[in-house]
Amino acid sequence: MTGFRLLIKGRLVPGAGALDVINPATGRTLTAAPRADRAQLDQAVAAAKAAFPTWSATPLPRRAALLVKLAEAVEVEQGDFARLLTQEQGKPLPQAADEIALSVATLRYFATLDLPPEVLKEDATRKVVRQHKPLGVVAAITPWNFPVVLLMIKVGPALLAGNTVVAKPAPTTPLTTLKFGELCARILPAGVVNVIVDQNDLGPALTGHPDVAKVAFTGSTATGKKVMENAAGTLKRLTLELGGNDAAIVLADVDPKEAAPKIYAGAMFNAGQACIAIKRLYVHDSIYDAVCDELGRLARETVVGDGLEPGTQMGPIQNQAQFEKVKGFLEDARRNGTIVAGGRVLERQGYFVQPTIVRDIPDHARLVREEQFGPVLPVLRYSDIDEVISRANDTDFGLGGSVWSTDRDRAFGVAARINSGTVWVNKHLDVGLDTPFAGAKQSGIGAEMGREGLEAFTQATIINMAK
Ligand code: NAD
Repeated sequence: MTGFRLLIKGRLVPGAGALDVINPATGRTLTAAPRADRAQLDQAVAAAKAAFPTWSATPLPRRAALLVKLAEAVEVEQGDFARLLTQEQGKPLPQAADEIALSVATLRYFATLDLPPEVLKEDATRKVVRQHKPLGVVAAITPWNFPVVLLMIKVGPALLAGNTVVAKPAPTTPLTTLKFGELCARILPAGVVNVIVDQNDLGPALTGHPDVAKVAFTGSTATGKKVMENAAGTLKRLTLELGGNDAAIVLADVDPKEAAPKIYAGAMFNAGQACIAIKRLYVHDSIYDAVCDELGRLARETVVGDGLEPGTQMGPIQNQAQFEKVKGFLEDARRNGTIVAGGRVLERQGYFVQPTIVRDIPDHARLVREEQFGPVLPVLRYSDIDEVISRANDTDFGLGGSVWSTDRDRAFGVAARINSGTVWVNKHLDVGLDTPFAGAKQSGIGAEMGREGLEAFTQATIINMAK
């Protein structure tokens, strides 16, 4: 596997340097990726800036048609994309294929939207019209857990709205983004999309660049705060999709056997490396033991292994740094709680952690307070609904959450009291392309997906005309 190149001004070019990309299932180098230096970052931004006047003046239906072409090109190579995603990210191949399919659907979805001027008011004295104009150069910065689809929910609406893009993936998962760059080189006018790769060193230069109008960022809350600081110099537009510590609340009327598999999937999807995974589970006292037992059984039955091996249900942790963090959470779980299932790393090469269920752990434990971003789920007991809602809300995060009950009206009432951007009832992790997704509190600013996710890449201009 060789030959990956950056995309700058329509040309696929070698990096000024290189970095090793590790396969997390083996811990060994998969291939080298090109690494941009500061001069290449500046060239990429300059190319995007130069492409902006023509691209933004291109009629929207033409831009939409090119998005569809991009979607088709990804679809034609979906098998290769999925395999590459599994190799660099670790997720099981069927889940990688799902991510690629969702990425194709995302590009197609945004290609169906448009941005017509809206008449806000018309009377005898005035006509007020709102127009949506593109912003300019968008920096699209993505993390390593869903490197492809999180890129598409930025590139799709940014391009449709008439912006140009500089994309920067996480250094541990750059390959699928570079491969997407190859398709952009074939399909889009030069400079409309540029792809650079760094080693976690170019973020400040990109997010502080005077010629970048907007930063669309997905990553941790800590990095999101730095992005905001950096972007302040030129008051850039920001969309920040950040960390979460989603609580799921299970009411007493739930059948543990029926709900446990769905709750387990909501916590362990992508080896727990999802911003909106269930990260704290609160279960009513009356069914606490039964739910813990069911989750423990599911954890013991899960097939953990290399995502390329058929039958693998859970892959490794994506990178060594995160692996070390998750080991720290396992240690915390052993010290402060009782391990129902799992609790250890696998004795093999790669960054594998057993899916782990932890019970009888106090609210102040690190595993409960912080975002574990791994397959280690704390299960907490409650008896009073007001008390559990306040425990669920006692966090700086506010991304998602869920309520589980056979009484949907009661569940709705509880859901409405959770301070998060999204709250599900009897499910978790269900994100629709046409449904805006946004974090509350320190989980983010602004929305992605849906019409809001498109308008976030525009500046509204009000034209107020006398009659
Ligand atoms: P991270 O914040 O370490 O990195 C994210 C991206 O930011 C990477 O591309 C990285 O290279 C870049 N970066 C690093 N330093 C930067 C800087 N100073 N300025 C600009 N960019 C910089 O996050 P991660 O570890 O890759 O991803 C995991 C985190 O992402 C978790 O907290 C998770 O919850 C969050 N996440 C959120 C969502 C969401 O939609 N809210 C989705 C997926 C992941």
